[in-house]
Amino acid sequence: MNIFVTFMFVLFFSNCKHGHGIMKNLFVILRKTVICFTFLLLTAGLVSSAVTINNQEKESGLRAGVARIDITPALPVKLYGYSSRKNYSEGVHDNLFARAVVLENGGRHLVMISSDLGSYSGEVFTIIKNRIIERFRLEESEIFLTTIHSHSSPVLTLNSETGDPNNILYTEQLIEKLISVTGEALSNLRPADIALGRGYSPVGSNRREMRPDGSIALGRNPYGPADKEVLVMKIAASDGSHMAALFNYATHSTSLGPANMQVSGDILGISEQFVEKILGNNVISPAFAGASGNIDPWYRVLPGFNEEPGWIPEPVLLGTLLGVEVVHVFRNTKELKAGGEIKTLTETLDLPGRKREGDPEGQSKTVPVRITAARVGDAAFIGFNLEMLTELGMAIKEASPFEYTFVITHCNGASGYISPAELYKEGGYEVTSSRFEIGSAETLVRKALKMLYQLCD
Ligand SMILES: [Zn+2]
Repeated sequence: MNIFVTFMFVLFFSNCKHGHGIMKNLFVILRKTVICFTFLLLTAGLVSSAVTINNQEKESGLRAGVARIDITPALPVKLYGYSSRKNYSEGVHDNLFARAVVLENGGRHLVMISSDLGSYSGEVFTIIKNRIIERFRLEESEIFLTTIHSHSSPVLTLNSETGDPNNILYTEQLIEKLISVTGEALSNLRPADIALGRGYSPVGSNRREMRPDGSIALGRNPYGPADKEVLVMKIAASDGSHMAALFNYATHSTSLGPANMQVSGDILGISEQFVEKILGNNVISPAFAGASGNIDPWYRVLPGFNEEPGWIPEPVLLGTLLGVEVVHVFRNTKELKAGGEIKTLTETLDLPGRKREGDPEGQSKTVPVRITAARVGDAAFIGFNLEMLTELGMAIKEASPFEYTFVITHCNGASGYISPAELYKEGGYEVTSSRFEIGSAETLVRKALKMLYQLCD
């Protein structure tokens, strides 16, 4: 009888929302069955063991630690993101930071590192990941090493043949700082609770603009799909003091274009700093870029910060607008809950590479894609070493069994753009520069959903 009661309560109190379609219908039926049986058991006085189980679930041993470190380059550096830009940076508009949030429960860790940078190439990522894993004895699935994709941040390189010496020095120092910030967050672990909230922001816009000849160019497509959701995880110590406002939003950090020579975190970096200024210095606000392959800020690739008297420079305007929504959601999210157990998974999926004219034997290699998934209570994080187009992130969120699914891109490496099959016939920058064969994105979405369901077990 105890096993039966346990089964029903696990179903009833499960944190997963159990999605859509067949799973949803099945869950509704099961849920109704659970409610009926629970009522019968209550009246029969048989529920005491089940109540004990529920209480045990609420007595979570979640602990959290946070840390932030300044990673602004001390020397002029080559800036990331536009191959046309050849010169060194000229000054700093806003400082760059790396922020670490570590969650731990029962020995299982989730290490979320957000950095105000462009991207970690496969080579640089592997070196950093191995250093962190060895130093702190973590498992590969426990790490989400991410960037906010700022195009006004240093190029990362350790290649002495192709890399600029200033950028190599910067990257070497960055690695030590990332280890330091991770260690500080791990050493700060203390009992904590989490809360989740969602808002919406118009800062990001679809950028696939159709020209009169029918071709697709980078620009603004205001009626095109764009994921406007702002997800916020609030983390507070058990005494109620706030520790972090972690947020997830889908936009490129490209309000600044190749003519800008100042270092900046751009949209997401400025949002993080706004939130921290408002919520106080003890709260860190790491941003995680959502599925934003085809999403640019509303004002995009500008030549710099407009200094006209009375003008609010667009990166500041949009970064602040997004930050204001994060603060609204943070403040409206009052119900702190014990975080629940942590589960993590990582898998490498070999997707078919693009067949290009002139490929030897007409064959193309596969391209490895890394997916990292984690669950903390009601929230799931799913990270990709990709620039996913927004439609793919929205599809994952829609079908996810979790109430809150943080889709995180630029996570654990960089394998470039991946587009839904229906956009291949339209073309455009994200499609033509992609390394993946048509249909790869759909395989990726199915795999991601399978992993999210695995986290519900
Ligand atoms: Zn990009």
